Amino acid sequence: MKHQNHQSLLAADRAHIIHPYLPGSAEERVIMTSGEGCRLTDSEGRGYLDATGGLWLAQVGHGREDLADVAHEQMKKLEYFTSFWEFSNEPAIQLATRLAELAPDPLNHVYFTSGGSEGNEAAIKMARYYHHRRGDTDRTWILARDKAYHGIGYGGGSATGFPVYHEGFAPMMPHVSHLTPPWPYRTELYGGEDPCDFLIRELEERIAEIGAGNIAAMIGEPIMGVGGMLVPPDDYWPRVRETLDRHGILLIFDEVVTAYGRVGEWFAAQHFGVTPDIIVTAKGITSGYVPLGALMVADHVAEVLLRDHGFPMGYTYNGHPVATAVALANLDVIDKEGLLGRAKTIGATLHSELQSQLGDLAIVGEIRSVGMMLAVELVADRTTRTPLPLHADRMPHDVIRRETGVIVRDSAHSLVLSPPLIMTEGETKEVASALRGV
Ligand code: PLP
Repeated sequence: MKHQNHQSLLAADRAHIIHPYLPGSAEERVIMTSGEGCRLTDSEGRGYLDATGGLWLAQVGHGREDLADVAHEQMKKLEYFTSFWEFSNEPAIQLATRLAELAPDPLNHVYFTSGGSEGNEAAIKMARYYHHRRGDTDRTWILARDKAYHGIGYGGGSATGFPVYHEGFAPMMPHVSHLTPPWPYRTELYGGEDPCDFLIRELEERIAEIGAGNIAAMIGEPIMGVGGMLVPPDDYWPRVRETLDRHGILLIFDEVVTAYGRVGEWFAAQHFGVTPDIIVTAKGITSGYVPLGALMVADHVAEVLLRDHGFPMGYTYNGHPVATAVALANLDVIDKEGLLGRAKTIGATLHSELQSQLGDLAIVGEIRSVGMMLAVELVADRTTRTPLPLHADRMPHDVIRRETGVIVRDSAHSLVLSPPLIMTEGETKEVASALRGV
């Protein structure tokens, strides 16, 4: 019976759904039906260990009734209202107040979205609009980095630094310029120079080339996720901030992945000791229970946006009461269960499990982590650090899932892991030994 249900679901899925990145001809589709903690179950009753935390977001784990109850109660009370323009609602106000307390000063203002892509569109438009309203109307350029991922919109998509995401969608947004990413393992990118010195010199040169007075903002993930979990040297962000400040350029942190405990702090900005002008968040704000995003905006930016007729950009789901109520409850769980601290300790445990199980393998170039964001960079040769050739029909994450039931992701020649912050020690061992086995 179960099997029959699976077959009909599979046929309907093939007939009607356009999945991102999946060819219509693909035979295999896993249909997930339930989850609890770090475990998932599919429509054939197979179990999985979720080492990606959904898509970098399941901070508090799957299947929590406390969050479901909050959504249920809020839907019964007020599921929606007439727009967030001149109307507001209690959960959105409470959440904005809470976020302003958690974020570094002066990030005291919140603009709600439904996810990360919308958040980056909003941030880029905000940066341009901020300069425009101050009369600095030439500041339209956006600096970004190769290997960045900023979502599917034309703004964030253009700032994304992978040609594959632009192919066939041209023309992308003009006035975007990509810099080299910080990737200390790949010393060849910096021609023998200290990586941070190289990157700051390149930034200064690019600003001079474009003209400081033409640049609105630089956008960057504090730790690049999709790019393969690239961790910059400690002095990179402070030096970037100092350089941008000298030229009146805003700094936007895309913390869609890194916020809400993923790196052991509420925001990665706190990990690096840098305060951007705008922080874009989504994903972990609700642990994925409902879609929501939030931009944290600094006082000096908000003051300009809120002048005169206000910031002219709104959409249907700004400040959705159910999403914001669930987000508040989710932040409570992160707080009460000490998940910021746990991300650091269990992340260190998972790192050392990976090191002891995989560290001796010839295809493992480097294992890196910050909190519960981890990557295993795969190489064909450890000495030359040549990337391991990958074959689309046999990607490592597919093989690992099929053979062991452990879900990881491939990102640019690295296996990336971002498990729920509640993962147990036993589960970290399970993940590491599954990877070794494959
Ligand atoms: N920014 C970063 C750093 C991301 O990793 C993602 C998604 O993975 C996004 C933006 C896009 O967010 P969403 O998929 O919620 O639109």
